[in-house]
Amino acid sequence: MFENIGENVLSLVSPSNILLLSILTFLLIFIYIFMFKRKKDALQNFVEEKIKVFQNVFYISEDVIIVLSNKNEILYANKAAIDFFDLKKYFKFTQLELPEIKVKNEFVDLKTLISHSIQKSEKRMNVYTNTLLIREKNIKEEIPVNLYFNTSLIKINDTVPGTILIINDMRKEKAKEQLAYKHKLTKLPNQAQALSDLNALYAKLHLNHQKIALVLMDIDNFSMLRSIVGYEQSNVVLIRFASYLEELANEFSFFVYHTVHNNFLLIMPDVESTKDILSIVNNIQHELKSFYKMGNSKLHLTASVGVSIYPDSSSTLNLLDDAYKALSNAEKKGHGRIEIYEEQQSKYDYDELKLYNDMHQALEKSEFEVYYQPIMDAKTKEIVSAEALIRWQHPEHGMIVPNVFIPIMEKTGFITDLGKYVLEEVLKQQKRWELFKFKQIAVSINLSMLELESGKFVEDVVTQLAQHQINPELIKFEITEGSAMISEESTSKQLLELKRLGIDISLDDFGTGYTSFTYLKKIPASILKIDRSLVINIVKNDEDQRIVKAMIELGHNLGMKIVVEGIENEEMFTLLSSFGSDFIQGYYFSKPLPVFEFQKLLR
Ligand code: C2E
Ligand code: MG
Ligand code: MG
Repeated sequence: MFENIGENVLSLVSPSNILLLSILTFLLIFIYIFMFKRKKDALQNFVEEKIKVFQNVFYISEDVIIVLSNKNEILYANKAAIDFFDLKKYFKFTQLELPEIKVKNEFVDLKTLISHSIQKSEKRMNVYTNTLLIREKNIKEEIPVNLYFNTSLIKINDTVPGTILIINDMRKEKAKEQLAYKHKLTKLPNQAQALSDLNALYAKLHLNHQKIALVLMDIDNFSMLRSIVGYEQSNVVLIRFASYLEELANEFSFFVYHTVHNNFLLIMPDVESTKDILSIVNNIQHELKSFYKMGNSKLHLTASVGVSIYPDSSSTLNLLDDAYKALSNAEKKGHGRIEIYEEQQSKYDYDELKLYNDMHQALEKSEFEVYYQPIMDAKTKEIVSAEALIRWQHPEHGMIVPNVFIPIMEKTGFITDLGKYVLEEVLKQQKRWELFKFKQIAVSINLSMLELESGKFVEDVVTQLAQHQINPELIKFEITEGSAMISEESTSKQLLELKRLGIDISLDDFGTGYTSFTYLKKIPASILKIDRSLVINIVKNDEDQRIVKAMIELGHNLGMKIVVEGIENEEMFTLLSSFGSDFIQGYYFSKPLPVFEFQKLLR
């Protein structure tokens, strides 16, 4: 059997078979080589493609990626790295001058850090989230970055370690972040920035005992302005106002923020006195009056201003809220007014709606009472007149002062009822004093412009005077400067009619609004009442003295008599009478008193 096999094999080894076999072998080898090459090509293609992908990823990565030799020569650098280190003029294998990085507020050589890592054969990625300091020809630049490096992942010729350095440049993000702290329209820092700056300021407070003032201002009637001049132009107003405030801020070293809409905040980190604040606010009001022209006419703008001062007004916790409260109070009082938040105002945290509901019954239940404060002749110290000041004896809250409820009354229109009540009370009182032979003096009554709005005010006054048979010269009306400024023609007509009847008009709180002197002539007032805020510091303050003196002169030149309010002591009295004030009102003589006590003074 085996022999047969041998024979069969031998019979195969014929020359023709050998040829066939050789061809077959060649074919097989060829196929094998062909297949192998294809496989190799495919593998190579695959690897090349992968490399290409990784190269591209490496190249286009926004993070700076550099591979360094152990001598810090550049082996590979991606585009971001070329831009970041400005490597265009450098070549491969040039040494990269390594920057310094900030570690715990100190700058450390990155070179040193890398060589430490190599020495210690550190496997981990070193991470520094901090500032990178680039020194180039003595130019130091601090750049916010996240920096990573690793000295174990790469081996050159399988032995020497290289370094992979990755830098995540944070500048763009920081810029974006900063944008979030800017007002979109005016590019001034916004409310978020203000809050963060305030926190930083408060943190430093214990270092130096400084006063911080927050001055919050709202351009008055802005929505009306928008409707008149249009959206674009009113934006121009805001932009100009913002750049004006910025200039002022540089000059007087304060910070300015555009919080929202037409609302701006000034942070004054180190004010000495209220006077400084008032003087800056005055500048702003003055500028607002004239800085924007439309065609040939100027836009007469004003701003309402609320101020809170640390530590005078409030704690740091409430300072901003208090500035808003003051602003809201200023706005309630009219246009172009400034209100400084006082601690006691916080006691006025009444529920407005409840007070409004209580008001109606209060009139019926006689909870309102007219107090009288004497006004003295500055030369003879005699009582020449009195101001009627309303008080509310509330069944739950006790005595509430007018600054709390008058604004609510003005908002709701209830002020007209109160006005009628006060006038009637005063007229009745005058009659009693006449009957009981008290000294006859004029009583001035505070008038809200809203009372004139019905157009029937003068008529009502005439009726009441006739009813009580009182000489019109025995009453006067006080209107506040702020409200007088915005009053319409019909109101000044009514004031003129009152004047013709023999009823004097006083311009109250003068110096808190921003009446121009030419405008003053148009208001039919014969008495100017200089506001308490202007005389609070007058004894110590030369500039206040000059201002008040000038105001008194101005009033006299316009043929007006002058009352100075808020005289609290002998020194103030002597000073103001020497300035030529005709009349004086203040705690120095007497606080506002209930009628029973007041008439003792009249005796
Ligand atoms: P006003 O008309 O300017 O009245 C003067 C205010 O200054 C009064 O506050 C008075 O008590 C206060 N005052 C006077 N002398 C001194 C002083 O030497 N030192 C200090 N610290 N204060 C002094 P009051 O009574 O709280 O009235 C506040 C405001 O409420 C008034 O300011 C007036 O605008 C308004 N008001 C008062 N009664 C009426 C009223 O019957 N009708 C209207 N529409 N408003 C009224
Ligand atoms: Mg008054
Ligand atoms: Mg006043």
